[in-house]
Amino acid sequence: MLNVDLHCHSSISDGVLAPAALAARAKVNGVDIWALTDHDEVGGIAEARAAAAALGLRYVAGVEISVTWAGETVHIVGLHIDETNSALVNGLAATRSGREQRAREIAQQLALAGIPDAFEGALKFADNPDLISRTHFARYIIELGICNNVSEVFSKYLIEGKPGFVPHRWATLRQAVTWIRDAGGIAVVAHPGRYKFSDLAFDEFMNEFKQYGGAAMEVMTGSHTVDQYDYYARIANRYGLMASRGSDFHGPAESRVDLGALPPLPDTVIPVWHDWLP
Ligand code: AMP
Ligand code: MN
Ligand code: MN
Ligand code: MN
Repeated sequence: MLNVDLHCHSSISDGVLAPAALAARAKVNGVDIWALTDHDEVGGIAEARAAAAALGLRYVAGVEISVTWAGETVHIVGLHIDETNSALVNGLAATRSGREQRAREIAQQLALAGIPDAFEGALKFADNPDLISRTHFARYIIELGICNNVSEVFSKYLIEGKPGFVPHRWATLRQAVTWIRDAGGIAVVAHPGRYKFSDLAFDEFMNEFKQYGGAAMEVMTGSHTVDQYDYYARIANRYGLMASRGSDFHGPAESRVDLGALPPLPDTVIPVWHDWLP
């Protein structure tokens, strides 16, 4: 059985490792087909592709786009994209463009909560100044000794209702799916188990995703519990979607699931990679 991992992050977005180091780790971990899916950014793809080729690792160009739907943030992964497509490139640039201002506002709010200089602090952890993420704030707050790990920082400071949360408007669902499709890619709902939608809202979200041409859903992801593996396998089949598998690996000390380490997809679903191999 193929070991396929189609979701992870490099230091081009909020991961810890450079794209080439991720490729090496995927290879060592026994991954057969690998995609790098940085947030709103394709700047790591060239390095990832070259490193994978040198290792004899099958590579798929990917991205994870931040979307606002019904006031909530959802993530849409694009796989097999042409990362030079101008609709995609321009769309991602527009999606990234609000991040610096948002980061300044997060820092102002954290200062009021007793954490000074957080903009500069987060920036220090961001290899790509174009992509300051809440994860970079989390690493700074851990460095200060205020929290012990990333999830503790999120639950105390960075999620809705906490002092450092700043609401933000990302791309629309229609835009994200359309950019991915314009670039020849497959749109995938990332970690569906993380969203706090009612059943009714989730159904509406899925119907819209399908209507715009979305084709797959992550079933095996580092964000899902064991119960959610089977639950989302059934949901994928119910909506006629292919199923994906991706660790969402961000870094050795931070991520629960390593590259290539998830259980295999249940055999009830159609893998998103079912027609990728000759
Ligand atoms: P941003 O795009 O700046 O809003 O940051 C989103 C990123 O923060 C996600 O891709 C995850 O890497 C991380 N993240 C979000 N929620 C949590 C959480 N509860 N615990 C740990 N990391 C999280
Ligand atoms: Mn992330
Ligand atoms: Mn995500
Ligand atoms: Mn991710």
